[in-house]
Amino acid sequence: MFSAEDIREDFPVLEHIIYLDNAATALSPRQVVEAQSDAEYHYRANVGRGVHRLGRMATHKFEESRETLLRFFGGEAGTLAFTRNTTESTNIIARGLDWKPTDRIIVPLQEHHSNILPWFRLESEGRIAGVDVIGGTDGHIRAEDIEAAITKDTRMVAVGHASNVFGTIAPVKEIAGICREHDILLLVDGAQTAPHLPVNLADLGCDYFCFSGHKMMGPMGIGGLWIKDGAPTPAPAYAGGGMVGIVSGHTFSTAAGAGKFEAGTPNVIGAVGLAEAARYLTRLGMENVAAHSSALAHRMIDGLLEIEGVNVTTPSDTPLVGAVSFTVDGVHPHEVAYFLDEAAAIMVRSGEHCCQPLMQKIAPAGGGTVRASVYCYNTEDDVDLLVATVEEIAHMVK
Ligand code: PMP
Repeated sequence: MFSAEDIREDFPVLEHIIYLDNAATALSPRQVVEAQSDAEYHYRANVGRGVHRLGRMATHKFEESRETLLRFFGGEAGTLAFTRNTTESTNIIARGLDWKPTDRIIVPLQEHHSNILPWFRLESEGRIAGVDVIGGTDGHIRAEDIEAAITKDTRMVAVGHASNVFGTIAPVKEIAGICREHDILLLVDGAQTAPHLPVNLADLGCDYFCFSGHKMMGPMGIGGLWIKDGAPTPAPAYAGGGMVGIVSGHTFSTAAGAGKFEAGTPNVIGAVGLAEAARYLTRLGMENVAAHSSALAHRMIDGLLEIEGVNVTTPSDTPLVGAVSFTVDGVHPHEVAYFLDEAAAIMVRSGEHCCQPLMQKIAPAGGGTVRASVYCYNTEDDVDLLVATVEEIAHMVK
């Protein structure tokens, strides 16, 4: 098991603050920043074009980064396209698949906007018959609820691997089994699990997996879309340089593999940084990261549950990816977040967490929740200080 204390020096800003907003964006260690500056200084060149040595080196590093990520996610039996983020990845699937007007898509209520609005948009454009929103507000996605919602027209299930509000983990493998049985596509939004859980795509059984680099210590503006071999391939969202095979007259064929989704100059430096992040996490061990995040989240819940006037939204009976949502009676979530920063330099997220359909049910008065989320460099002291400061806030309004 790694020690959070030992790795904190890789994240210089932690000298000054307590960072508990990891579900929004994680910090990048020095190693990731240095891998990017090394690329900037020594092999900043375009990829897949031209033959000079700098271009060849950049192309090699870009493709090597793709291989590193495929190995990190156990996704060798698939194609990994670099995208900007999870949102772009879900949209590539939504815009690019060959939908029929009778198709239906099942989506849990608790999904992030990135995994719900692309499907709502297909529905409002009439490209599919409808979106079936399932599940409740307790943070748990149940495979049997998904199975019960399946009809002969269901074409896809789109599910978050872990909730960015509750921190709970969905039974994706079980859902994948159900989807296979019914010949339905499965898209997994892995934005919250790629940073925290050992993900083995060969074992998980989904058709599409979407993730963001910035939540797993990588740079911003780089993420991925993984497509299982044999799954329907979406039409590329963009046409232009880099994604093309042969142009003949006014038509063209697309490049083979991931390249068809990477029109224009890709984020080569970002890909190199993201691969370095995957190597960093591999050194820590994803099993260890998962255990550390869950243990700290449970310590936080235990502490918060002791405080009168604090309502913990995250269930306490299940492993968590490190995110805990709560509210304080009589204090707006933004005020809680401001106070935590002003009084103790603790950074947390407050608001609707890009989950308005869920928030309209669990926080109908508006304001959403406070969310504190840990990562591998957080310690028990960080959690204890959060709990103590929330207690101060709760006492102030009593
Ligand atoms: N899905 C989930 C579950 C998320 O937590 C997030 C980010 N909060 C996203 C999708 C969107 O990620 P990005 O903004 O990097 O596209």
